[in-house]
Amino acid sequence: MIYRNYSVFVCLAIALLPAAITAEEFNVTLLTDDEQFVLSSIQEKQILETVSFLASDKMNGRDTPSKELNIAANYVAERFQKAGLEGLGPEGSFFQTAEFFCTSAPKTRAAMSVGSAKDVQLTVLTGINEVIRVLDVVSDSDAAERASASGDGKTKIFVIDELPLPPQAADNPVAALVTYVRRTAPLVRQGAKVVLVRVSDDSILFDAAATLRQQPVTIPVQFEPQCAIVLVSKTQALGGEVTLEVPANILQATPVHNVAGVLRGIDPEAANQAVMISAHLDHIGPASRGDDKVNNGADDNASGVTGVLTLADAFASLKERPKRSLIFVTFWGEEKGLLGSKYFAEHPLWNLDDVVCDINLEMIGRPEAHADGKAWGTGWPHSTLGPQMAAGAIRAGVTIFHHETFSEMLYARSDNASFVAKGVIAHSFSAGSLHNDYHQPTDEVEKLNIPHMTKIIQGLLAGTLPIARGELTPRAIP
Ligand SMILES: [Zn+2]
Repeated sequence: MIYRNYSVFVCLAIALLPAAITAEEFNVTLLTDDEQFVLSSIQEKQILETVSFLASDKMNGRDTPSKELNIAANYVAERFQKAGLEGLGPEGSFFQTAEFFCTSAPKTRAAMSVGSAKDVQLTVLTGINEVIRVLDVVSDSDAAERASASGDGKTKIFVIDELPLPPQAADNPVAALVTYVRRTAPLVRQGAKVVLVRVSDDSILFDAAATLRQQPVTIPVQFEPQCAIVLVSKTQALGGEVTLEVPANILQATPVHNVAGVLRGIDPEAANQAVMISAHLDHIGPASRGDDKVNNGADDNASGVTGVLTLADAFASLKERPKRSLIFVTFWGEEKGLLGSKYFAEHPLWNLDDVVCDINLEMIGRPEAHADGKAWGTGWPHSTLGPQMAAGAIRAGVTIFHHETFSEMLYARSDNASFVAKGVIAHSFSAGSLHNDYHQPTDEVEKLNIPHMTKIIQGLLAGTLPIARGELTPRAIP
């Protein structure tokens, strides 16, 4: 019942904004016949077709990187071209290509000398990006204490006992690795270069290490190993001077693509200002267990991308084109830490000072109970964009509001945050919630509410039009 009295709520939200905001900032004219015609050409049938393609089993969860994500990116580029957009990438291409690095553990083992035992070969769970050579003095008796030592920065080799692993680690070696990266993070802060994990001979970590050697994986940025983690038998004596050489992880670069097109504004002066409409194209890839092995990501975020594509078609088919330019863009790597949008923000294809705002679409296909045809904006109080979008969208019968639970919480959790970090007014718009199918194979097209989604996209068109036409200009609220 979060949405009870939503209309009062929107009014309140607007009324509560600082007094300096003038009524003109929300003044919108009626939709023109041209706009009304384009708005009603946004139809359920095409929306269903688009989202069904993007979320089909064939797309295999659109992981970053994957051949399926490339297929999806090609599809977006084709659609942009068909809509009549101009490619924003190098030489008029629709692609902005970056390299994404996958990691595998070193193929060779670590070599250890301890006391009189020379060249003991050890299995590496992970190295870092360079070869590590360390010398330290370890005594068997203090091995256990070394795990918790309040290090003086001189301790290079720490020894810990094997940790209990989460159940998913059995078929997901990255989960096992992440458990150890978390555990060793405080030791890294104390100077650890290598952490030796004392294991039994039948430890599951040997299987995880074998998989990590054979198959490159993507490790979330925040869990990238900062020290080598090496397995050592419980029965191995560790007393004395220890030298260790751990080979480096192997990095493999794979090209990944943001897809970006522009619809140039018709006003020579306003055309260098751009309204950006964006969504992430990637999802979390295939599932590792269960009967249904595909995380379809229909709501997250095939729905948002469908919004971007549909809005590109709609804006391009207006007889009277907007004064400002519109940039349409889809990102890779959101699920891996907003990576594609960060790359775009670091290597902008349009001067970011001239980006009026980013309207980022996230999960617009499944309303919360009693919220059909309603959407909400993240980070509502940080700029006038939300209330301005609301003022325009209501003309299509769509309410855009400040969601008390999610608006602030999710402001930093999608690609808009990459642009906020660069001082651009950027918010995500969503028309759903974190439902039970979030990041599950059950986030399927059949669960989408297509009439709701269609209506929301119409509302987003009506909401964006006054900004694209230069009648409203969003402004940051400090
Ligand atoms: Zn998402």
